[in-house]
Amino acid sequence: MPNETTSSPSNLPPAPHASKADCLFCKIRDGQIPATVVHRDDRVLAFKDIGPKAPLHQLVIPLDHIETLAEADPAHEALLGHLMLTAAKLARDAGLSDKGFRVVMNSGVGAGQTVFHLHLHVLAGRSFGWPPG
Ligand code: AMP
Ligand code: ZN
Repeated sequence: MPNETTSSPSNLPPAPHASKADCLFCKIRDGQIPATVVHRDDRVLAFKDIGPKAPLHQLVIPLDHIETLAEADPAHEALLGHLMLTAAKLARDAGLSDKGFRVVMNSGVGAGQTVFHLHLHVLAGRSFGWPPG
């Protein structure tokens, strides 16, 4: 994909965003841990999942640290919408939206959340079963 970049401390400015120490995704946002970035704007960052579960598996995170969807509040309404529209753009940009794609957000340990910085999974490029496991 031509607009992919690998983030590093040297090519990203310091981020003035709500942060949590030792948050993996805050560190990716700040370039302290490398990731293959596919989209960044003033509110969200998207990068390839390190353990892809489909031919396309990307994560979309808010730049601000929010732990879970359960902790989001009405002030986050527009941001949450922007995360969803970014997910659709990523599938479209990869040429995979027409055949269908899946957007997943795990909220809480019981739902399978392992990284506690809110994120959407964007999965595409294969068929998907229902219900999810
Ligand atoms: P969840 O289980 O919903 O919290 O999703 C966390 C996702 O983060 C998993 O799909 C992991 O494969 C992914 N992940 C963990 N570490 C990294 C990393 N360093 N770079 C990219 N994705 C990661
Ligand atoms: Zn974070």
